[in-house]
Amino acid sequence: MAIDPTAPYDPDNIFAKILRGEIPCDKVYEDDHALAFYDIAPQADVHILVIPKGEYVSWDDFTAKASEEEIAGFIRAVGHVARERQLVTRGYRLLANVGRNGGQEVPHLHVHLFGGGPLGPMLAR
Ligand code: 5GP
Repeated sequence: MAIDPTAPYDPDNIFAKILRGEIPCDKVYEDDHALAFYDIAPQADVHILVIPKGEYVSWDDFTAKASEEEIAGFIRAVGHVARERQLVTRGYRLLANVGRNGGQEVPHLHVHLFGGGPLGPMLAR
């Protein structure tokens, strides 16, 4: 079910539990600002989720409230993961779902990083 991106942060969401090490993930990268791990239900040959370490519900919440350092650190981490996974030459796609229309299901900001092969049209309509 899609989440309400204006609701307060829920510290019991699944990605908060992954950040606290309470449930496992297949980790790709971690630094002071971000954690990257493989999506449990991949929708491309490579499907990685990159999340900030701070408690932000969505892209909207993050860009409104996060510090310059958090924003720079998170965005740099996304780029680093793409380069480190050799995705740049052949190309890749970033996606951040926000709220009901976006189909966001987990109420902790995450950027999907898709790659590994042709990704098809941007949206299925
Ligand atoms: P959203 O629809 O919120 O943009 O995407 C949530 C993503 O999180 C989905 O692609 C889903 O497969 C992934 N996901 C949900 N629960 C888990 C989990 O426990 N571990 C991992 N690695 N991915 C998850």
